[in-house]
Amino acid sequence: MIQKILIANRGEIALRIVRACRELGIKTLAVYSEADVQSLHVQLADEAICIGGPRSSDSYLRADRIISAAEIADVDAIHPGYGFLSENAKFAEQCESCNIKFIGPKSKSIKMMGDKSIAKDTVRKAGVPTVPGSDGPVESEKEAVKIARKIGYPVIIKAVAGGGGRGMRIAHNDVSFAKEFHMARNEAEKAFGNGAVYIERYIEKPRHIEFQILADSHGKVLHLGERDCSVQRRHQKLIEESPSPFLTPDLRKKMGKAAVRAAEAAAYENAGTIEFLVDAKGNFYFIEMNTRIQVEHPVTEEVTGIDLIKQQIRVANGDKLDFDQSDITFSKHAIECRINAEDPARNFTPSPGTIGLYYAPGGHGVRVDSHVYSGYAIPPYYDSMIGKLICYGRDRKTALERTYRALSEYIIRGIKTTIPLHKAIMADPVFIEGKATTAYMEEFMARTPTDLFS
Ligand code: ADP
Repeated sequence: MIQKILIANRGEIALRIVRACRELGIKTLAVYSEADVQSLHVQLADEAICIGGPRSSDSYLRADRIISAAEIADVDAIHPGYGFLSENAKFAEQCESCNIKFIGPKSKSIKMMGDKSIAKDTVRKAGVPTVPGSDGPVESEKEAVKIARKIGYPVIIKAVAGGGGRGMRIAHNDVSFAKEFHMARNEAEKAFGNGAVYIERYIEKPRHIEFQILADSHGKVLHLGERDCSVQRRHQKLIEESPSPFLTPDLRKKMGKAAVRAAEAAAYENAGTIEFLVDAKGNFYFIEMNTRIQVEHPVTEEVTGIDLIKQQIRVANGDKLDFDQSDITFSKHAIECRINAEDPARNFTPSPGTIGLYYAPGGHGVRVDSHVYSGYAIPPYYDSMIGKLICYGRDRKTALERTYRALSEYIIRGIKTTIPLHKAIMADPVFIEGKATTAYMEEFMARTPTDLFS
């Protein structure tokens, strides 16, 4: 039985894991960088070990130091959270070989789904629709242009090792294609140490709809419904909700089944997400699988009442999932807003600094997952997300009104945040009508005066 867990992460997700462990009676060890001494998760964990300097390359990405800390503190398992080492197959393998449970899938599933081109191939063979495109990575420009013409413009060039919305380029004709193809390869090489790219049809104004998967080590694979993550900026999610206002019961059923098939094809175990793009006609296409817990997992937790972090720990412990697909019900509507320390009125420039007064909203149907507090200094070394506001209720209208109300109560002084932007979106008719596609943010920013969200 798992008795002590090392949390190989920081910020709100580290705190989220501490909280789940507390409720399960499991001890926690926080590992932290010199910049995170003041962080709440360090203060709330049972033990804490500093593993290095502020830069993640000196701390949260140092597998060797994390494994050493695990051995010194004698933990049974490591929870990687999201980002950092969470989708690093080598790290999962190292944990496995040191007899420390990695709270996530087996390293071979991470490897298979981590290469986006292999992932597409794997699920396609299992009968899951994928975006039409090249068979695997494309090396030469000549071959690439041929494929792009065959697919038909516009096309999107994507890094096989891509993630976090980076490493994607769109081309509209042969001339722009040649340029974008070389740029994409160079960028991918620099960002991921792997220059391989593949080509897909660029789907115009799709919705991003993903399915939460939960699978145990005894072969049971379930889905916990969808999240609509169409509100994105530069391919990065800003708002997520469940259920999707676009899906019909029939389409939901079809996509849920396809998601389970995709996870089965990867011999998947633990929590994961199958991401799809859905076009205006309701055609859906697999784009990738995320082999970890995601930022937006609370949306699913509030709709289904299932604690995903606890389930992850139970699955890693070898327990069977003690419910079936038919036991999972979707009784609420939930919306999550990512609160980033950025200035939306100035092209989302990061706004690190010290928070003055901090007051989080509360009341019926409001959840705030955040590691910050009054007087907290936001370190400039990490991503800018400082919290998540999740509001839920019996239907979408209630969730929307509640989100607007909670945003109006939320006070974070001393820095700029995305709170005013979220408020403006919650009052925007296109969003209220449930019509947002992945093109929504660009359109919204172009037609909305900045003083509405500054
Ligand atoms: P990452 O791993 O970097 O998050 P994804 O493959 O998940 O990359 O894609 C992120 C986002 O990029 C999608 O949600 C969508 O908005 C856009 N995108 C990706 N592929 C396509 C495509 N073929 N057509 C249109 N948009 C796409």
